[in-house]
Amino acid sequence: MKVLVINCGSSSLKYQLIDMENEEVLAKGLCERIGIDGKLKHEATGKDKYLVNITLNDHNDAIKAVLDALLDSEHGVIRDMNEIDAVGHRVAHGGDHFDKSALITPNVKEYITKYIELAPLHNPANLTGIEVCEKLMPGVPMVAVFDTAFHQTMPEKAYLYAIPYKYYEKYKVRKYGFHGTSHMYVSQECAKLMNTPIENLKLITCHLGNGGSVTAVQNGVSIDTSMGFTPLDGIAMGTRSGSIDAAAVLYLMKKENLTTDEMDTILNKESGVYGLSGVSSDFRDIEDAEIEGNKRAEVALETFAYRVAKTVGEYVATMNGVDAIVFTAGLGENSGPTRQIICSYLGYLGIELNSYRNSVRGKAVEITTKQSKTKVFVIPTNEELVIARDTRNIVSGVE
Ligand code: AMP
Repeated sequence: MKVLVINCGSSSLKYQLIDMENEEVLAKGLCERIGIDGKLKHEATGKDKYLVNITLNDHNDAIKAVLDALLDSEHGVIRDMNEIDAVGHRVAHGGDHFDKSALITPNVKEYITKYIELAPLHNPANLTGIEVCEKLMPGVPMVAVFDTAFHQTMPEKAYLYAIPYKYYEKYKVRKYGFHGTSHMYVSQECAKLMNTPIENLKLITCHLGNGGSVTAVQNGVSIDTSMGFTPLDGIAMGTRSGSIDAAAVLYLMKKENLTTDEMDTILNKESGVYGLSGVSSDFRDIEDAEIEGNKRAEVALETFAYRVAKTVGEYVATMNGVDAIVFTAGLGENSGPTRQIICSYLGYLGIELNSYRNSVRGKAVEITTKQSKTKVFVIPTNEELVIARDTRNIVSGVE
C-alpha cells in the first residue's frame, strides 16, 4: 500500500509518499509561497532533487504540482495516480471529539470546520488540503490525523483552567495540547530503546522546534502537556511568548491601545526568543549572536532553557518521578548545547550527560552515561510515518 501524507499550512504544503510494505519514503517535498508566487522542492529517493518554480495560486495548484512531480517521467516514482492507495492528512485541531485518527467523511469534515474557531490559522488550510485531494483523487480513502488526539487522555484537573466553569461548558475553553503525533511517536520509540513496555514507564518528551511543547507521558498516555487552548501556551518558542500572566496582556493592551488582533500578533509572531533577543527566531542565529557577545541573545537562550527545565520539573512532580527524558524536533534533535543547559538544571534527577553522545546528530541515541540515574535520549521525530501508519490501519480496517 502506498500512502501519500499531506501536511497543509496556510502558504505551504509538505508531503511524503510512503510505501507501507517496508515503510520506505519513495518521495518527499515541499511547496512554498502558495498564493504568493510558488516553489516546489521535490526529492525522490535515489534520484536528483527537483526544483520547480511554478505559479501556485492556491492549494489546488500546489496539490496538482505535487501529483505531477510524483508522476514525472524523470523525477517521479509512480506511473499512474491509481498507485496512491490512500491519503493521510495532518489536522491541527480535533477538539475534544477526536481521541484518535479518523476516516474522512462529511461528518468528520464538519467537525474540522467546527474547530476552525479553535485553530484559525491551521484548520482552514488542513480542510482545504482535504477538499482539493478529494477533488483530484476521487474515490481514494483519506484519513485525518489530529495534533490534539494524543492529549485527549489528560485528566480534568490537567485540562481545566480555573475560570468560571460556564466558559468550559459554553465554549470548550480548556487545554487541548498539540504536537501529539510527535510526542506519541518519540515516547513509543523511547520505550523500545529502553526495552521496557511503555505501560511501565514515566517519560517526559520535549518537542523543541520553532514551536515547542513538553509532555508528561505516563504508562503510554499523555497526562499533561505545556501547550494549552492554543499552541501559544507553555514554554517560550521561536516567536511565541509561551505562558504569560493574562493580566500583563490586558495591561499592555490598555497601555498601547492595542486591538485583540494586534495583541495576538505580538504574542504569536513577535515574542519568544525572537522578541527577547531581537536577533532572530532561529536558534542557530541566536546561538551565533551569543558567541559574538550579544547579551540579549544570551538572555533569550537562558530564559528558553530555564523554562523548559522548569516544565520538566513540573512533570516530574506530576508523575512522582521520571524514567527518561526525550528531546526531539529541530532544536531538540540538533542542539547539544541547548540540551546540556536544560539538563544542567536537572541534577536532582541524577542526570549525567555523555558529552560525546550529546554531540551526535540525526539518529536516536541515549545521551547519558551508564551511571546516570535518569536516562536522556535524542529521538528524531517522524510525524509523517505515524500519519501513514494510522492511515494504512484505518483504511485496511485494522483500527
Ligand atoms: P522545527 O520546527 O522542528 O523544524 O525546528 C526548527 C528550528 O530548529 C529552527 O528554527 C532552528 O532554530 C532549530 N535548529 C535546527 N537545527 C539546529 C541546530 N543545529 N542548532 C540549533 N538550532 C537548530
